[in-house]
Amino acid sequence: TIRKKFRKAGYQAIDRICDYYYSLREKPVVAEVEPGYLRRALPDAAPNKGEEWQGIADDYQKLIIPGLTHWQHPSFFAYFPTACTFEGLLGDIYSSSTCNPGFNWFASPACTELESVVMDWAAKMFGLDRTFHNISEIGGGVIQTTASDSALTAIVAARVRYLVDNPDVSLESMVIYVTSHTHSFGKKAGLVLGLRVRAINVDEDVRTGWGLKGSLLQQCIEEDRKKGLHPFIIVATVGTTNTGAIDHIEELGVTIKEHYPSMWLHVDAAWAGVTLSCPELREKAQLAGINTYADSLCVNFHKWGLTNFDCSALWVRDRKLLTDALDVTPEYLRTKHGDAGTVIDYRNWHLSLGRRFRSLKIWFVLRSFGIEGFQSYIRRCIQMNDHFVNHVKQSENFDFVAPPSFALTVFRIAPKSRTDLGLEELNAINRQFHVALQSHHELLLTQTDVGGVFCMRFAVGAARTEERDIEQAWRVIKEVGEEVLSNWKV
Ligand code: PLP
Repeated sequence: TIRKKFRKAGYQAIDRICDYYYSLREKPVVAEVEPGYLRRALPDAAPNKGEEWQGIADDYQKLIIPGLTHWQHPSFFAYFPTACTFEGLLGDIYSSSTCNPGFNWFASPACTELESVVMDWAAKMFGLDRTFHNISEIGGGVIQTTASDSALTAIVAARVRYLVDNPDVSLESMVIYVTSHTHSFGKKAGLVLGLRVRAINVDEDVRTGWGLKGSLLQQCIEEDRKKGLHPFIIVATVGTTNTGAIDHIEELGVTIKEHYPSMWLHVDAAWAGVTLSCPELREKAQLAGINTYADSLCVNFHKWGLTNFDCSALWVRDRKLLTDALDVTPEYLRTKHGDAGTVIDYRNWHLSLGRRFRSLKIWFVLRSFGIEGFQSYIRRCIQMNDHFVNHVKQSENFDFVAPPSFALTVFRIAPKSRTDLGLEELNAINRQFHVALQSHHELLLTQTDVGGVFCMRFAVGAARTEERDIEQAWRVIKEVGEEVLSNWKV
């Protein structure tokens, strides 16, 4: 019967997933396949007759796993790692089992209510002001698919608010502000919305650690307003993708509040926001500025937050600004409680209608780890990164390109004894270093460019990374670096 088949297939899947996780250390991090490998291995049309499940399950092992880059590998230090847990995975399984687009409270009350509660749990864990809590009924929290969606949603709400305050402003004159270090979603939001985007250049003043300051924001706004333009939102970042840089949220907030009150402050803390769970990190992560001034804040649980992709938390200070911008209610979506305004209808808090039951994942993770478990994981990652930082500090051949930030180190080959090497030559050496490192499939780091300096990023965060993985990574990095340098033409 189907029931028996499902039970057997399900048990086997869990067994195999468990084996997969706990055999990762023996596998290369990077997929060792060539483009088109899968098309060559698969038939060119779906089968006419249904196949036996076991063959399908075995093909996943045989054909798909070899083509995966193992983001859960303990030696995955690329991009920003995504920390997955069995609690998050089971949340996804249960969510999928209800197969439920929970867009209204009425469409599945538990979905809305659990999301509203766990977003408050998370808000408390991060120390967010009560206005951001759902229970305040003023602001609130909603789970979005990604940080890109969170930012787009905030920008749409910001645009509506600005136009309410300034009804004569044309869309052509409205500008989204990002910085040269804001994630590329800012530019994409401009493309989607047909709005101008200005990237404020924070590359020049290295001493600020590439964090946007209030004075520079004000200078840019004044310049643009003289040209008849209307900046209406600044997408600031706590923990940029490139270097982990932190914008000066309080200064930005003061500037906006004093001079341009219709402007919106969105804080993208997609990666570093989880550090707000640790009281000793809150000052660095700009909690005071966020609590006093941010109109919206995004923290991705699906990056460094022990929760399986996707799960991006967005909090807004005033939920009415979201629903004013996004509430479209045809007759078929009306409900008694929605009409009475006694429930949250999350469909009006994001762009799509249907939504996944993602709050289960946060609920499972926060209950199983507890706040202390969550904090100790964040602290452990930072400590492991500190070990790496110490190695870089003590080495003769490597140097930092940016101040280490939380669990991210941006570094390059820059031998202390070779002050004769100029930027171009160092960039060439580091490009070669990058290529050489990429041929070592037992670990993965990715490269970046910081104000013209080609360099490498080392990001700690994969849930199964241990100190021995950091030590092993440093051994490889050091050896490969020395080899590149010794072969470099003098
Ligand atoms: N913001 C920051 C700082 C990021 O580092 C990233 C991705 O790495 C994003 C936003 C985009 O995240 P998402 O994939 O959830 O849109």
